[in-house]
Amino acid sequence: MSFDKLGLRAELLRAVRDAGYTTPTPVQAQTIPLILEGRDLLAGAQTGTGKTAGFTLPLLQRLHTTPAPKPIPAGRNGVVRRPVRALILAPTRELAAQVEESVRTYGKFLPLKSAVVFGGVNIRPQMMQLYRGVDILVATPGRLLDHVQQRTVDLSRVEILVLDEADRMLDMGFVQDIRRVLALLPNKHQNLLFSATFSEEIKALADSLLDSPAHIEVERQNSAVELISQSVYFASKANKRDVLVHLLVEEKIEQALIFTRTKHGADKLVQQLHQDGIPAVPLHGNRSQVQRMNALADFKSGRARILVATDIAARGIDINQLPFVINYEIPNVPEDYVHRIGRTGRAGSEGTAISLVSGDEMRFLAAIEKLLKQRIERRELMGFTPAFPQDRPVFEKVAPARTRQQPKPQPAKRTDRPNRQAAKPEPAFVPRQNAPKRTPRYEEEVTTRPSSRKDNRPEWVKAKQR
Ligand code: AMP
Repeated sequence: MSFDKLGLRAELLRAVRDAGYTTPTPVQAQTIPLILEGRDLLAGAQTGTGKTAGFTLPLLQRLHTTPAPKPIPAGRNGVVRRPVRALILAPTRELAAQVEESVRTYGKFLPLKSAVVFGGVNIRPQMMQLYRGVDILVATPGRLLDHVQQRTVDLSRVEILVLDEADRMLDMGFVQDIRRVLALLPNKHQNLLFSATFSEEIKALADSLLDSPAHIEVERQNSAVELISQSVYFASKANKRDVLVHLLVEEKIEQALIFTRTKHGADKLVQQLHQDGIPAVPLHGNRSQVQRMNALADFKSGRARILVATDIAARGIDINQLPFVINYEIPNVPEDYVHRIGRTGRAGSEGTAISLVSGDEMRFLAAIEKLLKQRIERRELMGFTPAFPQDRPVFEKVAPARTRQQPKPQPAKRTDRPNRQAAKPEPAFVPRQNAPKRTPRYEEEVTTRPSSRKDNRPEWVKAKQR
């Protein structure tokens, strides 16, 4: 199928062609005709499917082809304003900025004005822009309500409302804000709700908002993951940094988005990578909005090779041709794993997702595999695999079946370990059911040993650093 068959105007088709797209993605093929008809829509689509163009293109067309409402009468300052005609709510600042960029890209041959408002930056330039009048407003809920309070925005003429990544907005606690925004909209308008998942809360929101909606479900939540080659390396916490450096250097990873679970963890890793001679930039909620935008821009343009982010970057962010996502720490919410690795393998391109998993993260890995209904390939790096049973993968912990005649398993003789193993004999392999009640954790052992972290590294890694 080609875009010409979807009923889009020539100006939009030209913009799509300029963007380099020839064939609509499945979500676009379904949403565009339905939205053009004026139907409410409940769409199950995750990022990476092309959903932004899926709602932006028909939204632009509908605004362009329906007569604009009368301008809002002059206020005290005598300025006559254009009313906001389409409102797109997004959970994060980054996603909001990205969606507005798409609106400008696809709408560049139409005389419609757009703006984006989000928190963390000065509100005044946004106020000035709103005063000048915009047709399409992309916003995060909190900052939008700030503008409502300041009376810089009037939502009483909105014709189309889009809730993008609605599940994420609810996860982030925006449900009250969304309801407050809904109360400001006119009774009759078109509603488009996009969500990757459908919790009871989302269904309740959809029931209260949508009027006989068309349902579409493109690519089940996990299926986009199929294009992504996934693997797991087991590493103790103490070894993760070395494993990461090894992978970045040896696998010649040119650009990677690395996830940590905490903001502090992201900052620490950036610092460590700098010490290891690998420049990296952080992206998380404690950075100012300007710093976040600069980090993302540097990464997207290739100026920064490594972006270390918390889950704030896991959804919505679109980085073209990002080949690698690395989970330095795997997420404790399994769905977040899907969103994180979804930053690569986008729009049909292939991607690689590598996760470094320590003993205490095994249960998170198990939950992720349960969600994916798939076992992620295990790989080993010589000299880095944790030595203690509790840090080894579950499948390796399970003792082989024994008969009465068979001798008890003996401690494995290791020949492939670095010298640190010689400093302290490795504990015997203990089948799980016979394990002593309290076995020291690998990380604790490592930190109490006199040998330094550097000494743990194989010679070839040390040689690389010199
Ligand atoms: P989204 O799911 O909207 O975040 O889009 C994911 C990526 O797909 C973005 O990089 C878009 O530029 C790209 N994209 C959108 N539509 C198409 C298309 N029809 N063909 C190829 N790529 C597309």
